[in-house]
Amino acid sequence: MEVIETRVQLRSWRGKIHGSVGFIPTMGALHEGHLSLVRRSLAENPWTIVSIFVNPRQFGPQEDYHRYPRTLETDLRLLQNLGVSAAFTPSVEEMYSPEDEVYVSLTRLGRLWCGSYRLGHFDGVALVLIKLFNLIMPTRAYFGEKDFQQVRVVEKLVEELFFPIEIVRVPTVREPDGLAMSSRNTYLSPSGRAQALALYKVLQYIQTLVPTTQLTADLIREGEAFLRERFPEVKLEYLAIVDEYSLQPIEHLRQSSNPRILIAAYVEGVRLIDNLPLSLPEESS
Ligand code: AMP
Repeated sequence: MEVIETRVQLRSWRGKIHGSVGFIPTMGALHEGHLSLVRRSLAENPWTIVSIFVNPRQFGPQEDYHRYPRTLETDLRLLQNLGVSAAFTPSVEEMYSPEDEVYVSLTRLGRLWCGSYRLGHFDGVALVLIKLFNLIMPTRAYFGEKDFQQVRVVEKLVEELFFPIEIVRVPTVREPDGLAMSSRNTYLSPSGRAQALALYKVLQYIQTLVPTTQLTADLIREGEAFLRERFPEVKLEYLAIVDEYSLQPIEHLRQSSNPRILIAAYVEGVRLIDNLPLSLPEESS
């Protein structure tokens, strides 16, 4: 595996290879969730490149940029063992300059939900991806459904900016008890870890209610009560039932052919997210 630190080296690597290139952008601290994206790319492309870059532009001033887990050596070993072709591990200076002119501003999808609480988050995600896509020129780029809003933002970005890149969605990888894997889970104490399960539990609970009501206001009210009673230490940021294409809230599940629940909540000050597609009962004729 080539470990590439500069844009110049990256261009030279890219110039030498032929055939489809799969790309997995990450912030490192790799876990099975990331590795499932890597395996998918390895199965679909002769070349797979993973970037490891904690992108300062997607963190707000009060967020965890400085304490975000950085485990580069272990990450590189994992990627090497899987048979990845190259890892791109640039410094911040390699990606940004204090004289930079260009900021990207998302106006709709990127301002909903997480974007409304993490101001500028998706603008920062979009900017770094535009840079990475231009450098790597991948055939396919792999994104986890764990960050569902991010997937939709990236699909829109690629469509609007005419990137000739296929965006591949990969299902969320969970711990055996259901907790969605996340680099931020490492911040949690054992009791916080137990509370964090609330996110998946409430999504599942809401799914069990769907045969009795399809009014989303009812489902959300029941979900909020479930959290208050069963997981009092969890601070809910939002719980929303949306159409998975537009990410707009819906009033009745049948308003959308693909309804999905999104949740963001804090546990011990750690911000966690999860989501689940809702399956509807067959309509009786
Ligand atoms: P991150 O390093 O958090 O920026 O994540 C890099 C990529 O891995 C993103 O496309 C995430 O959606 C994806 N990812 C993170 N956690 C999971 C998970 N538990 N299951 C599937 N994909 C994931």
